[in-house]
Amino acid sequence: MRTEATTLLVIGGGPGGYVAAIRAGQLGIPTVLVEGDRLGGTCLNVGCIPSKALIQAADEFERARRHAGTSPLGIRAAAPELDLPTLLDWKDGIVARLANGVAALLKKSGVEVLHGRATIVDGKTVDVVDAAGETRRVGCAHLLLATGSQPAALPGLPFGGAVVSSTEALSPPSLPRRLVVVGAGYIGLELGTVYRKLGCEVAIVEALSRVLPAYDPELTRPVASSLRRLGVDLHLSCAVEGWDGGAGVLRVKGADGVAFDLAADRVLVAVGRRPATSGFGLESLRLAMAGSAVRIDAECRTSMRDVWAIGDLTGEPMLAHRAMAQGEMVAEIIGGARRRFAPAAIPAVCYTDPEVVVAGESPDDAAARHGEITSAQFPLAANGRALTLEAADGFVRVVARRGDHRIVGWQAVGRGVAELAAAFAQSLEMGAVLEDVAHTIHAHPTLGEAVQEAALRALGRALHA
Ligand SMILES: Cc1cc2nc3c(=O)[nH]c(=O)nc-3n(C[C@H](O)[C@H](O)[C@H](O)COP(=O)(O)OP(=O)(O)OC[C@H]3O[C@@H](n4cnc5c(N)ncnc54)[C@H](O)[C@@H]3O)c2cc1C
Repeated sequence: MRTEATTLLVIGGGPGGYVAAIRAGQLGIPTVLVEGDRLGGTCLNVGCIPSKALIQAADEFERARRHAGTSPLGIRAAAPELDLPTLLDWKDGIVARLANGVAALLKKSGVEVLHGRATIVDGKTVDVVDAAGETRRVGCAHLLLATGSQPAALPGLPFGGAVVSSTEALSPPSLPRRLVVVGAGYIGLELGTVYRKLGCEVAIVEALSRVLPAYDPELTRPVASSLRRLGVDLHLSCAVEGWDGGAGVLRVKGADGVAFDLAADRVLVAVGRRPATSGFGLESLRLAMAGSAVRIDAECRTSMRDVWAIGDLTGEPMLAHRAMAQGEMVAEIIGGARRRFAPAAIPAVCYTDPEVVVAGESPDDAAARHGEITSAQFPLAANGRALTLEAADGFVRVVARRGDHRIVGWQAVGRGVAELAAAFAQSLEMGAVLEDVAHTIHAHPTLGEAVQEAALRALGRALHA
């Protein structure tokens, strides 16, 4: 068996692991990264990037279809047709381009990439088995766990055949006539909307009483209305009881307790993701856990000395930008810096139609934490740019402490509002007060003006509403 030694060994080449490795390489720390599948991890290969590519394509297709009807914009077009293999090639091309970019950045930073499956021997030793079955043993001073997460299955509805996870739903061999999505979180809604816009009949089954149940009801109402407008069949407060693959029928218990059947050619189960903690010897380290995730402190240290963990493996929020920020920080700490993971906010975006973005505290959370708060929202219907984008549904909301006007949260729903996440996170991270945003000149006409107007309104002096 070949053996080698390094300072930092990273298991997992997703956004957490590859960013940690790049930064460590930049700092001159001898680093080995082990990836068992494809560089870029879930995010780049079967998550953020391919899903947003399909969302873009589905939006374009739906827009073309609208123009083929009676378009208020005066555009007359023939009914569009979908070439699914070409669409998937385009999506895969974006993924490949970004994955090649990650490989090039790792190389440029001097990181050694081992393609193979890692198995932990102990906190300082890992065996890597490559595709040819060759094992290499790597010793390290620091072990960074960045193995990510996997789609959670539902009891009674195992993956296989017509029952698929988001991974398969992102590369369908064909489009089903009838798709049932189980779970109305952001992944289920994003993909359900894609399939609907591409012409499939789509039903969504959700155990709770609302779509996007993790977000506040005011924010998600426009999303539910839009799904209904698109013709998506919503079954809320309903529980899946089982799948009859032969008949192609999903048995569902309704809100009234009465069971009914939903016919489906494909079922997408999108009920969340579980940290990837098994199958590679992690149990042998007997790390302290936080539920199903690896427990970490503010420096991303696990309960074992010089064993670190980042990203989805460490639980919610399971977001690529959190994993990247943690990875960058761990590399810097190993390089000698004093850092803590204490962001003012980790923004979250749902690329639903319309989009939802949140950063910091909701009005309810803020009231519970700070007592007296002020909150104001500005409707996109009063924003010129939103009207020209045919995106008048939605609003931007700011939440601030009443006493000192310190902004503690932002929420928005509307087409294109995802791009406001940067402004939201920056104002929170920089400790802005309402006056800072209200007195910043925002370019006209932009959706950003709704951010300024929300702050003005919270100060009692909105100009355009
Ligand atoms: C459909 C979908 C859409 C999403 N959209 C967004 C979005 O818009 N924005 C957002 O922020 N997040 C999104 N996410 C979540 C995001 O993809 C994850 O939060 C992110 O990828 C987590 O990064 P990570 O580095 O922790 O793990 P991962 O990206 O999961 O990477 C872990 C890597 O470790 C490798 N690995 C695991 N075990 C081993 C082993 N034993 N040996 C070698 N290699 C191993 C895996 O092969 C994998 O490549 C989405 C997820 C999905 C599924």
